[in-house]
Amino acid sequence: MYKDIATPARTRAILDKYGFSFKKSLGQNFLIDTNILRNIVDHAELTEESGAIEVGPGIGALTEQLAKRSKKVVAYEIDQRLLPILKETLEPYPHAKVIHQDILKANVKEMLETEFNDIRDIMLVANLPYYVTTPIIMKILEEKLPLRGIVVMLQKEVAERISAKPGTKEYGSLSIAIQYYTKPEVVMIVPKTVFVPQPNVDSAVIRLTIRETPSVSVKNEDFFFQITRASFAQRRKTILNNLSSQLEGGKEKKAEIIAALEQAGIEPSRRGESLSIEEFAKLSDVLYEMFS
Ligand code: SAM
Repeated sequence: MYKDIATPARTRAILDKYGFSFKKSLGQNFLIDTNILRNIVDHAELTEESGAIEVGPGIGALTEQLAKRSKKVVAYEIDQRLLPILKETLEPYPHAKVIHQDILKANVKEMLETEFNDIRDIMLVANLPYYVTTPIIMKILEEKLPLRGIVVMLQKEVAERISAKPGTKEYGSLSIAIQYYTKPEVVMIVPKTVFVPQPNVDSAVIRLTIRETPSVSVKNEDFFFQITRASFAQRRKTILNNLSSQLEGGKEKKAEIIAALEQAGIEPSRRGESLSIEEFAKLSDVLYEMFS
């Protein structure tokens, strides 16, 4: 049996051996608690037929736990200094592969076709670098990759925004974008003490189960997202004022926006945070006819 990578003593020994220094700019906060890691993997509900994609393996703490419970793991790591370390720590797991690349520049679809062509059940599981949490999640969802879901550690505050319901102060265009593609659940709140170095913010693990079809059907997805972003541009403004100041030509078309809101059954004096995703879908379809 190999000793787990994620114990404080083994992590320290690996870091010392390679003289590794953490880069804050790359969001390097490594997990040193095997129980937390196993818990994260539990929430991904993997089987020995599953595949896992990881973003940012670090020294391989989570990669190892994923490798123990899946058929194949592919991990993207941006920091070249970690490659020789991962070669050593993941040596017992030949079905774990590391790709040295920025995930935001990676062609994940092509990778899935070559590396996971015999695997039907695929999850993305990661302790994300916090400086790029949202771009990573949005990239994976917008590319409509054939995944069952995503289980990731992120900032607690971002987890709350992702899973927020209408009428709360956390609810906004991020909640809508992610709830359009997935069903989110916050499955764990994680203390700072299980990381080295400790991050400045509290953390949480969120599970996003990808929907077979989006939560609402809209005429044009890009336009729908544009309307949701515009509606929250200034949270204290009414939906009418946000839309007329944010949409191109909106100031001149104020009367049309009022008519569209009425047609969608939405009082112009309401604020964006009070609208459900279904209401945003209805409104964006009516406005799409006027603005396209
Ligand atoms: N998985 C390890 C763990 O849980 O201990 C490390 C997680 S650490 C929070 C984030 C990792 O992501 C670091 O290894 C960092 O170098 C890597 N990383 C940062 N930006 C990245 C990017 N754009 N693409 C791929 N990896 C990235």
